[in-house]
Amino acid sequence: MATQEETFKKMVAHCKEYGFVFPSSEIYDGLGAVYDYGQNGVELKNNIKQYWWQAMTLLHENIVGIDAAIFMHPTTWKASGHVDAFNDPLIDNRDSKKRYRADVLIEDQIAKYEEKIQKEVDKAAKRFGESFDAELFKQTNPRVKEHIEKRDALHERYSRAMNANDLQELKQIILDEEIVCPISGTRNWTDVRQFNLMFQTEMGSTADGAMKIYLRPETAQGIFVNFLNVQKTGRMKIPFGIAQIGKAFRNEIVARQFVFRMREFEQMEMQFFVRPGEELKWFEHWKQFRLKWHKALGLGDEKYRFHDHEKLAHYANAATDIEFQMPFGFKEVEGIHSRTNFDLSQHAKYSGKKIEYFDPELNQSYTPYVIETSIGVDRMFLSIMCAAYKEEQLAGGDTRVVLNLPPVLAPVKACVMPLVKKDGLPEKAREVMDMLKFDFKTTYDEKDSIGKRYRRQDAVGTPFCITVDHDTLEDNCVTIRMRDTMEQERVSISELKNIIAKAVDMKQLLRKLTAEENQ
Ligand code: ATP
Repeated sequence: MATQEETFKKMVAHCKEYGFVFPSSEIYDGLGAVYDYGQNGVELKNNIKQYWWQAMTLLHENIVGIDAAIFMHPTTWKASGHVDAFNDPLIDNRDSKKRYRADVLIEDQIAKYEEKIQKEVDKAAKRFGESFDAELFKQTNPRVKEHIEKRDALHERYSRAMNANDLQELKQIILDEEIVCPISGTRNWTDVRQFNLMFQTEMGSTADGAMKIYLRPETAQGIFVNFLNVQKTGRMKIPFGIAQIGKAFRNEIVARQFVFRMREFEQMEMQFFVRPGEELKWFEHWKQFRLKWHKALGLGDEKYRFHDHEKLAHYANAATDIEFQMPFGFKEVEGIHSRTNFDLSQHAKYSGKKIEYFDPELNQSYTPYVIETSIGVDRMFLSIMCAAYKEEQLAGGDTRVVLNLPPVLAPVKACVMPLVKKDGLPEKAREVMDMLKFDFKTTYDEKDSIGKRYRRQDAVGTPFCITVDHDTLEDNCVTIRMRDTMEQERVSISELKNIIAKAVDMKQLLRKLTAEENQ
């Protein structure tokens, strides 16, 4: 059996081979942590975005969308805190010349203690069998107790250093814990420095006095600065939300794991404005709704979990991540944050404009509180690909690579194939395709054996293959073959639209979300 790491590598190679994701500007050897989506990738990505957009704006009459510019007035980022605080602590190893995030090195060390504890627990569980009490064991076994004490002490010291922004202390922790560079194996570390993750550029010609501006590191601020515009022109009443999908840019220090951490990526964010004091109720509501949105795709309920933040950003009063089980562990795909009234207040302060809402029911004005749901399109794409990629052993010793994509999201819904390239079959197949193409993304393939053509469609996750044969000319029936079960059925051409629509209709997914939704 291939390890998870090997399967992940194969999935990445598959993404390139089948036109899902290419390294950016590959003919020039690529650009670090920047990727292009190919002909199939863009369809999958667009479908993900559509699912999100419709779940937000169709299902909620009090959520509207916007599309703000990537460039924003530079004061936006002063007000939001990004100029001063959107930093990662970085450290270099002088021997390997490799750069690391100091916080990640320390978090990895904490994870190592956790692994040691888990190993001891697993070993003991095997030894003691059914009567084993893991909690009691952790409290009493001297070796485990020692690991737990070390982990807790490190955790405590690390949190204190991060909260106090104490870079010297972060370095001292790395030295005291004897953390070595994984490449050089040495402890020859530089000092820890803060590194701002925002990309800068200039707007206007230098003669005019160019203005330093930033590529937005999140889409959310485009929503906050438009709060009054949307509220007034849309006559929106609190509670209401503004949704946006768009590119964001971060000069990540260590960018790896394919499209998981990119320097240019896409976010789908929704800011939900509520009455002060009601934010935690809405936080809970959005947590549950967003989890339902993920689970409705059917990738496996056990693959998701919430991870509540212990260290909250200075503006937040509750925060959680929805994590997905990637081959490299449970990782954040989406963040849900209760951001208080921090952003709107800051923009009011820096712009000198009054940013408030008059609540007719309470007969008073206030600065609304905000619940944010923020999900990365690329991470969502990655989680779907990781769950969908399968290497299957078939009866008769054959194997196939198949993408079990949720049919609603599949890049191509159906491929129409004439059995042979003659006898009027291609013309008939074209007729079928012309009938389907207004409703579904459909392709046509007449090259190679039917078996090979099926494999090609399995590899890009096409739910249906439709074969036109000689009998079709007589009886107007075709063979429809299902991707997951590989079963084939003879159906009338007139039934095709219904069969496909039933499986790929976005409405089905949306209905699952509204089943218990009562707002
Ligand atoms: P991380 O801790 O992994 O750096 P974050 O907590 O900084 O992520 P947020 O600022 O909460 O992320 O951004 C919201 C979402 O945007 C994340 O849940 C993720 O899906 C996506 N995202 C953030 N940074 C990147 C990136 N560099 N590449 C791809 N997606 C990203």
